[in-house]
Amino acid sequence: MIRLTRSPLPTEVADALARATDGLRTAARKEQTTRARTTWRSRSTLRQSLGTHLREFAPGRERCMYCGDNQGTDIDHFSPIALTPLLTFVWTNHLLACSVCNSHHKRDRFPRDKRGRPLLLDPTVDDPFDHLALSLTLGRYRPLTERGAVTEQVCGLNRDILTRGRQNARTTLGYLLERWESARRTGDTETMRQVVQTVREQPFADVVQAMLRYSDRPGAADVFADQPEVLRVLRDPSIRAELLG
Ligand SMILES: [Zn+2]
Repeated sequence: MIRLTRSPLPTEVADALARATDGLRTAARKEQTTRARTTWRSRSTLRQSLGTHLREFAPGRERCMYCGDNQGTDIDHFSPIALTPLLTFVWTNHLLACSVCNSHHKRDRFPRDKRGRPLLLDPTVDDPFDHLALSLTLGRYRPLTERGAVTEQVCGLNRDILTRGRQNARTTLGYLLERWESARRTGDTETMRQVVQTVREQPFADVVQAMLRYSDRPGAADVFADQPEVLRVLRDPSIRAELLG
């Protein structure tokens, strides 16, 4: 999971959302959830439009904003419809998710702390790296905070298929970055551009973001002990400027 910057919606889409929310407010409280679900299902054109705008700032090639691996096929309500029906049509409550994260892991779970504040990390508000450390060797997240621990658990961020994928991503990125360095030595700017584009479109954007961040910290030589050439590339200001999220 990486920090994402939410784009603003065009006025006509924002207005359509506001009208839909106004429609929900007219229902009695106990009927709002049912009406929210029915209205959400019936507004296919609006949902398509929201999906288009979510894909614009999704990681990689339209990847899920939680796992970063699968294609983002679903619009996830960060705070679930069942708990907050009046947020069904609120843009800041929409994230792009894969069906595995949305329907099998997160579902309607939305834990809060004692003061009622959400514990799940919202990648469009929070920087997940403030709450979760990524082991590049194991491909696993280690919680740094309570919110990180809850997010890892609720979203299943350490499921085996993801940890293996992150390990593979690290290896692949190593080869790509070495290729970028050899292209630079020969002045092959076209290959350098292609490598940057390929890295940007890789699944597991969290892995390259972690590599870039960790390469700049004390202890980086140990983290990248088996990839000293990769560490040199990761510290290069020009590639950092192109890849850092
Ligand atoms: Zn996912």
